[in-house]
Amino acid sequence: MDQCRYHNASYLCSAHELSQLPADTGAEVVFAGRSNAGKSSVINALTQQKKLARTSKQPGCTRQINFFQLGRNARLVDLPGYGYARVPDSLKAHWGRLIDGYLAQRRSIAGLVLIVDIRRSIAEPDAQMLAWCEARGLPARMLLNKADKLSGGAARRACLEVEKRLGPGSGAQLFSAAEKSGLEELIRALEAWLEPAGPAPASQGAGAQGQF
Ligand code: GDP
Repeated sequence: MDQCRYHNASYLCSAHELSQLPADTGAEVVFAGRSNAGKSSVINALTQQKKLARTSKQPGCTRQINFFQLGRNARLVDLPGYGYARVPDSLKAHWGRLIDGYLAQRRSIAGLVLIVDIRRSIAEPDAQMLAWCEARGLPARMLLNKADKLSGGAARRACLEVEKRLGPGSGAQLFSAAEKSGLEELIRALEAWLEPAGPAPASQGAGAQGQF
């Protein structure tokens, strides 16, 4: 399992407007979730970098789509966290348009990692993200983050409950960014999305193009 490319991930750019998105080539994995679910902490745990994604005690402070380069032609994408009540409506509407526009036009999305706080129920925007994936035939992986906050049995039961609600091509797993548990399982899923056909043989022609 190639963990190096995650550890070597680097900040690429941020988009406040659709015109600022980087080139739509290769493959990218989208990280989404409600504010405070631990999205930034998950990205930092995955990349083993303390400050790659900005964690905050003030939920809702990520106001743009952040892109992180992963190897030559793959990216991790940090969407603004949703569902934070104290953000003004005008800003919410702006994020909504930005996220909707990004999801609607982006061809390089290979899958969605949806981060939820294991102690909270699935929010409406989470369900919408999952439905969007299903409609587009994209795989989703739900991370039940902060699993360290529950006992082992309660955490496993929560995971089984969530799995029942997921469509084909999607899965759920326990995760703790604080304890860095669940990383190998997550990386296995990401690798399957980013390299569906495995390394292309040198003689392979057009079929391999567009993937890295
Ligand atoms: P984001 O708003 O979704 O990016 O959330 P952050 O990554 O900023 O995390 C929100 C809060 O949850 C912070 O106080 C984190 O320290 C905490 N947190 C994140 N992941 C975990 C975890 O796995 N376990 C525990 N106990 N706390 C976590």
